[in-house]
Amino acid sequence: PPDVEELGRSTWTLLHSMAATYPEKADTKQQEDMGGFLKLFAKLYPCWVCADDFQSWMAHPSGRNKPKLGGRSEFGWWMCEAHNEVNRKLGKKEFDCRFWEERWRTGWKD
Ligand code: FAD
Repeated sequence: PPDVEELGRSTWTLLHSMAATYPEKADTKQQEDMGGFLKLFAKLYPCWVCADDFQSWMAHPSGRNKPKLGGRSEFGWWMCEAHNEVNRKLGKKEFDCRFWEERWRTGWKD
């Protein structure tokens, strides 16, 4: 089975990179595509406990954790919050989401 930590690091790189290259303003089709991707991703992610928890988090009955897909800045922020939810669960430090673009788009070394 995949190494959950290595898989996680690689996957966050993919997910935040997808946010970083998301259109500044997404049209309906782009929003549907990303929404569909996230839904399937959360179902198929090959760490099953991770996938279950992630699906439940996204589907919170209040609707507060639904992906925000209108454009890059809100989507990037949402992805950062999703990652922070996992960070909290694992007892890791939370990331200050004001810096997500520096980390994942415009670049800095960590
Ligand atoms: P990672 O958490 O992998 O982060 C990589 C880099 O991203 C960090 O070095 C930092 O620069 C940056 N970063 C950190 N937080 C943020 C943020 N909020 N926003 C933007 N950038 C950030 N592991 C489990 O053991 N149990 C689980 O249930 C679990 N669920 C997961 C669910 C998903 C959807 C994913 C993608 C991963 C999950 N993981 C889970 C893996 C876990 O999140 C970590 O990837 C893994 O523990 C390795 O952690 P790390 O400390 O190397 O850094």
